Amino acid sequence: MSADPTATNRLRIVEIQEVIVESPIVKTFFFHDKLCGKAKPGQFVMTWVPGVDEVPMSLSTIRPSGLSSITVAEVGEATKALHQRKPGDPLGIRGPYGNGFTLTSGNVVIVGGGTGLTPLLPLVEKLVGFSAKVTFLLGAKTKDELLFLERIETSLSKSNLKVFTTTEDGSYGLKGLVTVLAEQILEKERFHMIYACGPEQMMHKVFLLAKRHNTPVQVSLERIMHCAIGLCGGCMIDKFRACKDGPVFSTEQLREIKNEFGRFKRDFSGRKTGL
Ligand SMILES: Cc1cc2nc3c(=O)[nH]c(=O)nc-3n(C[C@H](O)[C@H](O)[C@H](O)COP(=O)(O)OP(=O)(O)OC[C@H]3O[C@@H](n4cnc5c(N)ncnc54)[C@H](O)[C@@H]3O)c2cc1C
Repeated sequence: MSADPTATNRLRIVEIQEVIVESPIVKTFFFHDKLCGKAKPGQFVMTWVPGVDEVPMSLSTIRPSGLSSITVAEVGEATKALHQRKPGDPLGIRGPYGNGFTLTSGNVVIVGGGTGLTPLLPLVEKLVGFSAKVTFLLGAKTKDELLFLERIETSLSKSNLKVFTTTEDGSYGLKGLVTVLAEQILEKERFHMIYACGPEQMMHKVFLLAKRHNTPVQVSLERIMHCAIGLCGGCMIDKFRACKDGPVFSTEQLREIKNEFGRFKRDFSGRKTGL
């Protein structure tokens, strides 16, 4: 990625260029960074909020020019502090880290739920450029929480992309869970790859559907991450370190972690707890 192999691990201070309010609790922060501009979809940055914490965030924009973004849901202390940042404010980042998604040409389906859509946005943009035929299923609880619809539909005119939406309350698109739609689509059409990111129970369901239809799958898993370079062990899922061996896991890897995937996570002290 870089002539200097340690460059990725160095903390860089970037300036926030633009902030977009995506939903009542989600904001996108744009910045420029050369290394992030070379990232793979599905890779993440450790985002430093001085005096508060350093937290992992997937890249939601990856451009060769270096234009990059993270899309952040306000859920706790660090993300609340991040949400108060404005254009011109500094942001600390290191990375990009993790393996990222493996691109596939052919017929692919992408299943995303809630803020899980974040790493899927640069993925769909890359796949479209990779001449894949893409079916994108976006799910959220309500219309307000449905992310990136406009940006996805802008790619629609240029490409071989079909977009379907579901909301749990029926306020936009089909009413129900995105996995129900995935099930219906997989019954009708054969895909070369399924990509998924969202709540882990949703991804587990997608994994079971993929197994039933004998289709390979890649899912992006979230675990508590501290070092992000595979040293601290805080993000272990069975034998894998989610930060380095993941966060994207293939069918073969998911089979190896079937006793933990969809069932257990680790708390801040590393103790295994139910999901
Ligand atoms: C690879 C990866 C990519 C992610 N991408 C995104 C993204 O694009 N957008 C987004 O909104 N969120 C993303 N997350 C989740 C995000 O890191 C957490 O929501 C954030 O760390 C919460 O911090 P907090 O201090 O606001 O919340 P806290 O109050 O500290 O915690 C709330 C919950 O967030 C999770 N969390 C807290 N600290 C960490 C940590 N160091 N690592 C992982 N999870 C943590 C825990 O489940 C915790 O229960 C990602 C997580 C991972 C592992």
